[in-house]
Amino acid sequence: MQIRINGGRLIDPGHFDGLADILVKDGKIVKIVEKGDDSTPDPASNIQLSESRIIDASGKIVTPGLIDMHVHLREPGDEHKETIESGCRSAAWGGFSAVCCMPNTSPVNDSRQVTEYIRARAEQLNLVRVFPVAAISKGIEGKTLCDFEELKQAGAVAVSDDGNPVMNSRMMRRAMEAARDMDLKVISHCEDISLAADGAMHEGAVAKNLGYPGIPGASESIMVLRDIALSELTRAPVHIAHVSVAESVRAIRDAKARGISVTAETAPHYFTITETAVKECGTRAKMSPPLRTEADRKAIRQGLADGTIDAIATDHAPHSNKEKDVAFGSAANGIIGLETAVSLSLQLVAEGVLSLTRLVEKMSTNPARILGLGSGLRVGHTADITLIDPDLVYTVNSDNFQSLSRNTPFDGWQLKGRPVLTMVGGRIVFEDLHT
Ligand SMILES: [Zn+2]
Repeated sequence: MQIRINGGRLIDPGHFDGLADILVKDGKIVKIVEKGDDSTPDPASNIQLSESRIIDASGKIVTPGLIDMHVHLREPGDEHKETIESGCRSAAWGGFSAVCCMPNTSPVNDSRQVTEYIRARAEQLNLVRVFPVAAISKGIEGKTLCDFEELKQAGAVAVSDDGNPVMNSRMMRRAMEAARDMDLKVISHCEDISLAADGAMHEGAVAKNLGYPGIPGASESIMVLRDIALSELTRAPVHIAHVSVAESVRAIRDAKARGISVTAETAPHYFTITETAVKECGTRAKMSPPLRTEADRKAIRQGLADGTIDAIATDHAPHSNKEKDVAFGSAANGIIGLETAVSLSLQLVAEGVLSLTRLVEKMSTNPARILGLGSGLRVGHTADITLIDPDLVYTVNSDNFQSLSRNTPFDGWQLKGRPVLTMVGGRIVFEDLHT
C-alpha cells in the first residue's frame, strides 16, 4: 500500500517550501516531486494505482508530523480525566504525530516500570508516538534524585518534575549535571512556591476585583533566572516550560544572547487570552502558571517572533468536572489544548506574528531538535506527516473532542484553519478531509 499526497504546499523548515507531491510507502517517504510552474504530468502518478491511495492536498499545508512536547495523559492513576488512548486520539485529531507526556501521574513516572508501561501501552494502541518524560525527583517531591540512567534506558526522553518546581537549587544543580551526563534535557516548571503561596490567578487588577489571591509574575521569572544561572554554572542545557510572563521572556532572550544553552516553550493560551478570561470562564481559565496581563501576552508573541521562545506546546491538562466545578480557589489547575492548538497558533500567522514556516518550526522541528527526536519531510524519513487546511472555518465544540475532559476556555470560539489528516509511520491515524 502506498499513499500519494498530491498538490499540497510542503513546508519542511530549512529544507523545502513549495508545491509538491509526496509518496509514502512502507512507512517511509519514498519520493517528493516538486511542482514546476508548468505542471507537466508526473509519470510516477500513473503507477500501481490499484495499490495506491491518492489524497488531494491542493489548498492544504503538508508539514512534518507535529510534536507536542508537553502534555499530561493522566494514565496511570487518573483515567477518568484522560487515558493514554484518549490522549493519543486527542493528539491525532489535533494534528500531532507525537506527544511527550509529563510524569505527574499516580504513581509518578519516576521508575523504569512506569516509563515502560506508558511506552508499551502506546505501542499497543498504535496511534501517535508517545515519548515519556520521567521525573527529576522521586515522587516529584524534590527530595531524592531519580536514577536517570535507568529512566533513559527505559525510554524517557527528558526529565521534569512538572506540576511542581524543583525548589531546592542544590538539587536542581545536581539534576542538571546528572541529566547533562546522560544527554537528557531538564524541563523546568518555573515557580517559586513561596512567592506564589496560595495564589489562584495572576496578581493584578482582575484578581483584586474578583477577590482572589494573586500569583505575581516574578514567581515564575525568579526561577527562570535561577535556572539560567545554574545552566551557566553547570554548562548543562535547560528547557523552560510554559513561559507566561514578560520578565521570563526578557531573561531568556538575554541568556541566549550570552550563549547560554536555554530553550523555551509557551502554550497557545498565553499568547491568545489574558487574566480577564477568568471573569468569563471561571475555573476553565485556571492554570499554572496563570493567564497573565495584555502586556505579558504581547511579550510572549514578541518572544515567539524573535526566536526567544523556541516551541509551542499545549500543556494539555485534562480535568473532569468534579475537579473544575468547585470554588475557584480549590479547582484543579490546567486546561486541555491538543485539539485547539493548531487553530489558535494559526492566528499568529494570520496576525503576522509568525510565518507559516516559523510556526511549523515551533510545533515540530524545534521540539524535535530540543529532545533529539525526528522531524522532516525528506526522502528516506519516516512518514510522520500532518495536513492542515488553513481556510477551514469552524466553531470549537468540546462535546466533539476526543479527550475525555472538557476543561477548555475556547468552547464556542470561531477559528480558522485546522488539521485534517495525521499520519504516523505511514499510517493515517486521523482524517477529516471534507472531500
Ligand atoms: Zn508545569
